[in-house]
Amino acid sequence: MPMYEYFCGHCSETVERLQRTPAEEIACPRCGRQAKRMVSIFAGGGTPAGGGCAPAGGSGFS
Ligand SMILES: [Zn+2]
Repeated sequence: MPMYEYFCGHCSETVERLQRTPAEEIACPRCGRQAKRMVSIFAGGGTPAGGGCAPAGGSGFS
C-alpha cells in the first residue's frame, strides 16, 4: 500500500498515511484542520532544476 504525505499549513505538521487511494486532504491530527496532500517528488522522474548534462568544470573537452 502506497504512502502519501500531507502537510498542514496551519501548524506545519507533516502527516504520513498509508492509503490505497490518495485523498486530497485529511484532518490534521495536531490541530484538526485540513492538511493537504503533498505532491510526490519522484512522480515526474526528471532531473533537479538547473541540472545540465555536462559538469561545470568540463573535462577533456578539447
Ligand atoms: Zn495542523
